[in-house]
Order: sequence, then structure tokens, then C-alpha cells
Amino acid sequence: MTPNTTAYAQLMAFQRQTEALAQIAGRLGWDQETMMPRGAAEQRSEEMGAIEGVLHARRSDPRIADWLDQALAEDDEAAAQLRLIRRAHARATRVPADLAQELARLTSMSQGIWAEARAADDVAAFLPTLDQVIRLKRDEAAALAQGGDLYDALLDDYEPGATAAGLAAMFGRLRPRLVALREAILDAPRQPAALTGSFGTEAQLRLARRLATAFGYDWNRGRLDLAVHPFSSGSGNDARITTRTSETDPFNCFYSTIHEVGHACYELGIDPDYLLTPLGAGVSMGVHESQSRIYENQLGRSRAFTGWMFGRMVETFGHAGAPDAEAFYCAVNRVHPGFIRTEADEVHYNLHVLMRFDLERALIRGDLAVGDLEAAWNDRFAADFGLAVDRPSNGMLQDVHWSVGLFGYFPTYTLGNVYAGCLHRALRDAVPDLDDHLAQGDATPATEWLRENVQRHGGLFQPRDLISRACGFAPDEGPLLDYLEAKFRPLYGL
Ligand code: ZN
Repeated sequence: MTPNTTAYAQLMAFQRQTEALAQIAGRLGWDQETMMPRGAAEQRSEEMGAIEGVLHARRSDPRIADWLDQALAEDDEAAAQLRLIRRAHARATRVPADLAQELARLTSMSQGIWAEARAADDVAAFLPTLDQVIRLKRDEAAALAQGGDLYDALLDDYEPGATAAGLAAMFGRLRPRLVALREAILDAPRQPAALTGSFGTEAQLRLARRLATAFGYDWNRGRLDLAVHPFSSGSGNDARITTRTSETDPFNCFYSTIHEVGHACYELGIDPDYLLTPLGAGVSMGVHESQSRIYENQLGRSRAFTGWMFGRMVETFGHAGAPDAEAFYCAVNRVHPGFIRTEADEVHYNLHVLMRFDLERALIRGDLAVGDLEAAWNDRFAADFGLAVDRPSNGMLQDVHWSVGLFGYFPTYTLGNVYAGCLHRALRDAVPDLDDHLAQGDATPATEWLRENVQRHGGLFQPRDLISRACGFAPDEGPLLDYLEAKFRPLYGL
């Protein structure tokens, strides 16, 4: 049969309905974390199961292979659509159905076992389950890799085109400079003070909305709600964000809001022509995280933007222990050693991720037995953070990822920070007066540049190519490290 445009049109029409159903499934998940009455949990899990069943059947529909054989791409965009559909279809069909089912069953159960083990600080209660998860993930990786590297096959799900060897080389250059910066900061004579006082929930949320507006978040196509763990959800013309509040720490609310605004602006910034197609979503976890991180850190924690924030803080809460904008900037950027990745500052954060990357790679390779994981974790933590892990919930039990089989996900957090460092350098070159805008509480020139150079392309380019095109240079860890050193050395009087 000769390639034809009818097959392409049929495939895209079928795909569009699948994408629409996936958006509905995502909105059910959003509802579950924000609005759903507690008594509806059991019914909701049946509803989710039903729609997941429909989605699975559509994604493995045998007609897709026929359409892919016959479809003719008339332009680059159509070729990219076909590339993404072909890739997803290969992943959906390579893994045997019984293995996929077994993985789904195990990981839905193992999350509960992990949560109980973490609450009880009981590593032994989690290890047999983790061992099973790793075995199944290795089987899945073998099915996907077809002779290639197992970890790469898992990584590819989150970061197409990335390899563990490439990341390991980059992370190997990142680590010593981060450790040296951390040590210098913690030995510095000048140690900034944290904010003091109590911060009302409603006032925090009002300010959080202003922050989202400052970055150009489109309230006509989004909304902000409370959730236990902040997340963003949806794409196209419906990209919602969530946040949380803490009475003693308003930065938790403000910076998780700005972070999620970054994710949501990415989805909202994609070319409307790609709506409900494979191109109509963020291209990878790393690029997604680059958007959330540049909003949160390079922009949201900058001296210029925090200067404007300080004025809004004083209006709302008074000085809260920060006499001036400089002290406020230092409080926002305080570096503090701690056990928990999600609470880490910019200097410590990547050290957490690098450690998990090395450990999970060794687990998938079979170089590290699960029985030796806790000791390996604690040794590495002492080396990189100078702290002895006091209990497993502050150590290897702190993150949900491994319990639900998310191997290959962690490195995309640091890759996102590396990309954010590169994009920030290019953005500053392109918008030299950016600080003047940020100091007025207006980050929209940054959003506009990111939309034009990154966000609007959706899934059109490979992640690394996308960043290269946006920056005009091949991405590496240099800009991130230069940024961190240029920011934190003066902040600590080094
Ligand atoms: Zn994120």
C-alpha cells in the first residue's frame, strides 16, 4: 500500500479523541486532589479505572499500526506528530500485557506499603515490595530496551533522547562545585535570618494570586486551588495550578505557586494549532522542570523581583523580621542543610537528585541490592551533605517515586535546573532590561521570551535540540553553576 494522507487524517482523528479522553482522566485526578468529597474515593477509583481501561485499549488499538504504515506526512509538523505517535505505540506494545498489568497492580499497592513504612520508620517493611518493583521494572526495561541499556529505556519515558552515560558525565562535573559551594556557604561568617511571625492563609493566597499574575498566568484558562502536594494539571486551554499554605512559612506557598505557574504557562503557551494532538504537551519532564525552575528560582528569587515582593509583603504582613528588601532577599535565599529533597534550597537541591540518580541506576543495573540501599544512601548523604541521617523517613523512605516504579524520573529534576540555567543566560542577553520589569512586579517579558523560544513549540523538537535552538548554544551545567556561584557568594559575603 502506498503512503497516503487519508490514513494520516484517520490516525489524527482517532488520536484527538484519545487525547481528549486523557485530558478528562487528568481532570478527574485534579478533582480528586482538590474538590472531591472524601466519601467518593471508592467510586472515583472505579471511574478512573474505567477511563484508564478505555485509554489503554485505544493506545494499543491494532489500527494504529496500520495507519502508521500508510500515513504520509506532508510537512515537518505532521512528521513530528507521526514520530510521537509511533514512539508511544512502540512503548505501549513492546511491554507484554501481563507484565503491564502486574506492574499496575503492584505499584498501586506498594505506594500504601511505602507510606506505612515511612510513617513507622520501618525500612524492613518496605524492602520486599521495593525488591519486587525493581524486578518488574527491570523486566519492563528489558522489553523496551530490546538489547540496549535498561536504565536508558526507563529514562527515555521521561526524557526522550537522554542517556544515563551523558547525564552521569554532566552530573559528575556538577557535584564537586556544588559540594564546594555548600561547604563555603555553611562556613560563612554571615548567616541570613529567616522570617518570623505568623501568616494568615487567606492573605497568603491573595498574594499568591498576585504572584501568578505577575508571571502572566492566564486566569481565563486556569485556576488556583489548595492541595496537600502542589501540582499543575491539564494542557491546551485548561492548565490549573494548586498550592498549599503554612502559617509559619509563607515562602512555601509563594514559591510552590510560582513553580506551578511555570509548568502551567508552558502548557498554555503551546501553539493552539497543536491542541489535543501529541505535539500539544510539554516535550519532556526536564524541559517542563526548566520552566517551573526558571520562574521559581532565577526570576522569582532574584534580587529585583524579591524587592517588589518585599513591598507587597510589608503591605500584607508587616516586616516579619526583615527590616529591608536586602534582608528579605537574603531570607528568601537562605541556604540551610536538611534531609528532605522537596524542602531543599537551590544549592542543596541538585545534590539530593544526583544521589538518587546514582543509587537508582545501580539498583536497575543490579549493582546494588535493595538490602544494601539504606547503608549506601546514608554513606552518600554524609559525604555530600555532612549530615548523618537520623531516621529512614529523613533518608531513603522520604520520596514516593521508587515505590510507584518511577525509575529514571529523578535526573530530570536536575536536568531541568541545568536547562533553566542555560535559558536564563540566553534570556538575560535577549532582554537586557529584565530587572527593571521584575522590580515592578512584572515578569511577563520573561514569559513572552520563553513562550516564543520554548513553550510554543510543544513536542515539535527533541528536548535537547529545543534548548539548543532557544539558547543558541548546546546546553551544559556551566551556566547553572556560574549563576549559583554569582548569586550565593556575595549573598554570604564570600
Ligand atoms: Zn515541577
